[in-house]
Amino acid sequence: MVCKECRERLSRHKDLAIRCDYLDVDSTIQYRKEHAALLDIEYLVSACLCGEHCRYDGKSNIQKSVAQLVSQGRALAVCPELFGGLPTPRPPCEIFQGKVYDVHNQEQTAAFLKGAQRTLDIAKKLGIKKAILKEKSPSCGVHFIYDGSFSASVIPGQGLTARLLSQHGVTLLSENDL
Ligand code: SF4
Repeated sequence: MVCKECRERLSRHKDLAIRCDYLDVDSTIQYRKEHAALLDIEYLVSACLCGEHCRYDGKSNIQKSVAQLVSQGRALAVCPELFGGLPTPRPPCEIFQGKVYDVHNQEQTAAFLKGAQRTLDIAKKLGIKKAILKEKSPSCGVHFIYDGSFSASVIPGQGLTARLLSQHGVTLLSENDL
């Protein structure tokens, strides 16, 4: 099943497999189990880098090289913020003094931690030791995050998922490291 949006988006990237289920992780794992293909997964990748429209504003950050890894079965797409139960679109969030707040000053740390834990659980379950994550995100930022002032100012730091994965031995790259 391919939605109209995906068809239009992927028509610009004809060498990618067309699919709409990047974030259906459980089905993907089940499918790969049935096909004995779990050992091939090398990376977790931020789903927005694969073209999934899961950003806070409903857009994606498609990066062809990352989307190709998923199409080739070498990477599994994850979106920690959706795993945490947040909707798309959603208010933008930033980290301030270790906690996550949305632009309306509502604390969202619990959802971000829940999403980070689910992402780590998937990495452990599949033995995945590498991740390619979206820079500057309060979940996925690898080297930099926004400073919490919602003024587009960037500081050194990691998103909550990136930090948890790193603490558990997952090697992190951002899209800018590719
Ligand atoms: S949480 Fe990560 S994967 Fe999801 S939209 Fe933000 S940067 Fe992309």
